[in-house]
Formats: sequence, structure tokens, C-alpha cells
Amino acid sequence: MSDPKVFLCRVADGQPDQWPLAVQRLLVETPEPLAFVRKNDLIALKVHVGEPGLTTFLPPEVAGVVAKRVRALGARPFFTDSSVLYSGARSSGVGHTEVAIKHGFSLDRAGAAFVPADGIEGDLEKQIEIEGRHFAKVGVAGAIASSNGLVVVSHATGHLVSGIGATLKNIGMGCASRKGKLLQHSDTKPFVTEGKCTACGACIENCPGGALSAGEGAKAQMDEKVCTGCGECIAHCRSDAIGFRWDSSSEFLQQKMVEHALGAMRAVKGRFTCVVGMVNLTKHCDCWGAGSPKMVPDIGFALSSDPVAIDQAVMDLTEAANGKRLDQIAWPKIDGTIQLVYAERLGLGKRKYELVEV
Ligand code: SF4
Ligand code: SF4
Repeated sequence: MSDPKVFLCRVADGQPDQWPLAVQRLLVETPEPLAFVRKNDLIALKVHVGEPGLTTFLPPEVAGVVAKRVRALGARPFFTDSSVLYSGARSSGVGHTEVAIKHGFSLDRAGAAFVPADGIEGDLEKQIEIEGRHFAKVGVAGAIASSNGLVVVSHATGHLVSGIGATLKNIGMGCASRKGKLLQHSDTKPFVTEGKCTACGACIENCPGGALSAGEGAKAQMDEKVCTGCGECIAHCRSDAIGFRWDSSSEFLQQKMVEHALGAMRAVKGRFTCVVGMVNLTKHCDCWGAGSPKMVPDIGFALSSDPVAIDQAVMDLTEAANGKRLDQIAWPKIDGTIQLVYAERLGLGKRKYELVEV
């Protein structure tokens, strides 16, 4: 069997007005990845609408180009994403829809409406059977599982707990129900080293789950039962007082994420394709409301039906542009290839691919 193709359209650095045109060019010149779209299909466009306050997420016009193309094929697209685990605007379907509309993911501005993937309370899911190392069944967000096909529009970034956040993360974590997300994070609980804690309170202020409080001498203490494993406290602690068993924790999280990605791909019966933006390549993901520094000049947009190949291309292209892979320049340095190796082993795709520049 031949290697999967990854189509690439390059863009100049810092030229966001080129981004929708690059995606349009990919879709027009390479119709093959959207060949699964049939007339009257309901097609889920999995996006990240950006945490309130963030400006570096992919603008709605990028996914809007995909919506227009899907509509031109006679199908009906909708933007979608599932509820986040931490408290905040995107933790319910209602709040998430409000943020989506505010950020332009609307019929008026981008050609499709936003539908919360797991309902207004994050409990709408379909259990899908898989054969994984960790799970025999995974919870896929209901609107995605009920759709007739999926286009995953991802923004490549570094990631605190999985090394990189790109396509596999967007499918595995982003298409999972809240219960599925919780199960993926179950091994990633940080711990506070009391001797190093200076009682500054930064982690308590920034813990979206409300899991941290001031204990004896105002030093931070964590309630493991409440902690969602998001990892934000680690980034806010300047005293290196918050630790994390990165090796085993991230390895299991990445594997569990891949198992949920397999469930989402099965739910839509393999009728999906992936678009990834290698622009605004920031240290942290788009859930990071305060924003984070851009680490590599903008590269371009890629399109592929293979989620493993496209993420491997993200790694290779960032290395070619910068001398290091995206996960090697993100913080903390987590080996993001774990998800690629495991995804290939589970049959989600191939790491060896053919790059076709359009
Ligand atoms: S990982 Fe840290 S910031 Fe996130 S919920 Fe747990 S204690 Fe709070
Ligand atoms: S941010 Fe670090 S030093 Fe400050 S309270 Fe939290 S654990 Fe202690």
C-alpha cells in the first residue's frame, strides 16, 4: 500500500489574511480528502473557538472556507466542540456557544452555526467499542458521533501534558465527552512540594478547577478529587514547587487520548479528514486564555485523510523550520511522539507519508 499523502500550502510569516486562501487552495486542488461528503450529509467541523481573552486561535474564516466547500458539495456543515473540564465560559454548551459566536464561529461570519458537541451539560455521548490497552469502550461527544462525517480543523501548538496539540489531540480529547476527558486525565495529577512553596498563591488564583487552596502558612494544598489534571498550576508556579510524574503520566494520557481518537473515527465510520494550521505556533494550546509566545515562524496549512501522517508532518516541518520538533521547544519537554507511535500501532494511520506541496 502506498504511503498516505499530506498536502501542504505554505504561507508567509505573520500574514493571517493568507490563511483562508491557503485552505481554499488545498480543498480545491486536492478534492480527494473530502470525497466522503455526500449530498444532505450533516458534517461536523471540529474546531477550537479559543478561550476568552486569547487571540492566537485559528480565526473562524479558516474553518469557514471548509464550511463553504462542504456546502458546495450539497451537505450541511456545523461547527462543533465539546465542553472543557475546568470551570469557565466553555465548560457548558451554552457558554461555549456564546464564546463561539463572540469569536465569529457563526452562520453570518463563517457560514455555519455552532452546535455544542456534548449537549448543554457535557453529558451527551455515545459509547463506542474499541480494542485498546486502556479501554474497551470510549465516550464520543453525541453531536460528533451522530454526524455523517467529520472534518477536524486543528491548530498546532505545544501542549503542557501531551507535548503537542494537533490533530490526534483535537480528535482524541476534543471529540470526547466530559466523562471521556476525565478518564484520559486520570493519571495526570500534579503534587505540591511543600518545602519549595513560597505561598505566593499564583497557582490557587489560576487553578480553573478550584482544586488548590491555601493550607498551613498559606502554602498551596491540592484536593486530588477535584483536580482535573489540566496542568495549569505547573505553568504558573515560579518556584518549581509543583511536580508531575511526566513520564508515566503523559505516556498514559497520550495513549488514552489516541484510544478516544480511534472511537471518534469509528463513530463516523472512517468518514473524516483533517486540516491543520501551522501558524501562530505557540508554546501552550488555545485553552490558555492569557496567550503564550509564538515559537516558530508561520509555516502553512496541511490537509490529509491520515491523522497520524499529518501530525508527523507537523513535527517534521517544525523541525525543518526551527531545528527542533514542536514538542521539543514547547514546555515542559514531553515526548509528543508517544501519541504517534501508539496511534500507528492501533491502526489510525501511518507515520511515513508523502508530502505534496500545492
Ligand atoms: S492540574 Fe493544577 S491547575 Fe489543573 S485542576 Fe489540578 S490543581 Fe488545578
Ligand atoms: S505557585 Fe508555587 S510557590 Fe506559589 S503557592 Fe503555588 S505551589 Fe506555592
